[in-house]
Amino acid sequence: MRRLLNKLVSAKRGSDDSRAVGLLAVVLLMLFLSPAGLRAQSDEEAAQTREADRWTIVHAGTLLRVPGKEPLERQSLVIQNDRIDRVVAGYATSESLELDAAKVIDLEDDFVLPGLMDMHVHLTGGSLPDSVPDEAADVYRLTIGIVNARKTLRAGYTTVRNPGATGWSIFALSDGIDAGELEGPRMFVAGHTIRIGTDGGSGSCYSVESCRAAVRRQIQMGADFIKVYATCSGGQPCSHEKAPAVFLKDELEAVVQTAQSREMKVAAHAHTTAGINLALEAGVDSIEHGSWLDERSYELLLQSNRFLVPTLMVRDLVQRNLDKIEDMTPERRTRLERSQKEHPRRVAEAFKAGVVIASGSDAGVVPHGDNARELEWYVAIGLTEMEAIVTATVNAAKLLGEEQDLGTLEDGKYADLIAVSENPLEDISALTDVDFVMKGGAVVVPR
Ligand SMILES: [Zn+2]
Repeated sequence: MRRLLNKLVSAKRGSDDSRAVGLLAVVLLMLFLSPAGLRAQSDEEAAQTREADRWTIVHAGTLLRVPGKEPLERQSLVIQNDRIDRVVAGYATSESLELDAAKVIDLEDDFVLPGLMDMHVHLTGGSLPDSVPDEAADVYRLTIGIVNARKTLRAGYTTVRNPGATGWSIFALSDGIDAGELEGPRMFVAGHTIRIGTDGGSGSCYSVESCRAAVRRQIQMGADFIKVYATCSGGQPCSHEKAPAVFLKDELEAVVQTAQSREMKVAAHAHTTAGINLALEAGVDSIEHGSWLDERSYELLLQSNRFLVPTLMVRDLVQRNLDKIEDMTPERRTRLERSQKEHPRRVAEAFKAGVVIASGSDAGVVPHGDNARELEWYVAIGLTEMEAIVTATVNAAKLLGEEQDLGTLEDGKYADLIAVSENPLEDISALTDVDFVMKGGAVVVPR
């Protein structure tokens, strides 16, 4: 319940007069009751509240409750409304748990795990037809976002982080999902990317003062975290290995400190070695992409609570282009071929050095709904299947600072869970074919 649309939606719901009148009647009645009568009334009310609770029991053939720990066979997840109440061994029933009524979901032939989390998606991204005028673009982006949000959730991704968007549609999408009006994953949104620019557009800045202002603008719009373009984009010549950082250090520090003044984290898009290391020295919380990480980057990333979001899936796209583009200059081809080898190798090296990876695919640049392909990449560079799953659950929740609610199926956390028919600890590709999705205790994709 953070932003504009939520206010509109809750205002609409709040205008339910009959409920308000009913509540007033109960209050008046209670005023005239004796203390004993009052107590009886409260007990009755409490019973009604209990009855109103929605209980669900999920029978899990195999349950990976906490990624990183061994899964257990034949478990029951007991869900009260939108959260996990407890997990019991064996297949429980409403009678065995002494619940008045509970819906039972049979996933006895499946592998059940927490909903997956992608820390780098652009749900409203993608190119628009030329016929769409600038002033209409944001409306079309919202439509694109609605489709992509649904696709992402149905692929088993119950939470995403959206580092950078154009316009306002990303906030409307996030609010619509929060309000339960649209189908999609839980969203953590950065607003507009902070970038070097003198055009005065939202997100652009060129000095300590203007960078502070650009961050404050995103906070005011409703950003959950801040994204900064610490280097050029991957495809640009200025993102080559030895290219300097595009910001000055005091400007990047201004971005980080302003975000921190509102307890917000900063995600830095960074490809070049100098750009990565300057961003980390300035205090950012995560490096997105990290094409040209070096030893110094690993050291800086090992400092407390920092994350690497590798987006290796983009390598699939670059490879396709390498095979396709005929008029590519030899220099560009050499540079791209080298980064195709070096980026995965350096991510693997960082992981071996102890750097914490949070899964991020860059869906929007690569197709939405194929997000689990990113986990196939992690296994391909040497992570175990379990380690890959940890990047998309436990580590992602920590990156968001939401580990009290998300990332595992422990008591009290949101009932965000998925089921697959094959064991993803034997073959990570099982996660590309999700059979069942539940978000906040509500079934999105039934078995
Ligand atoms: Zn991106």
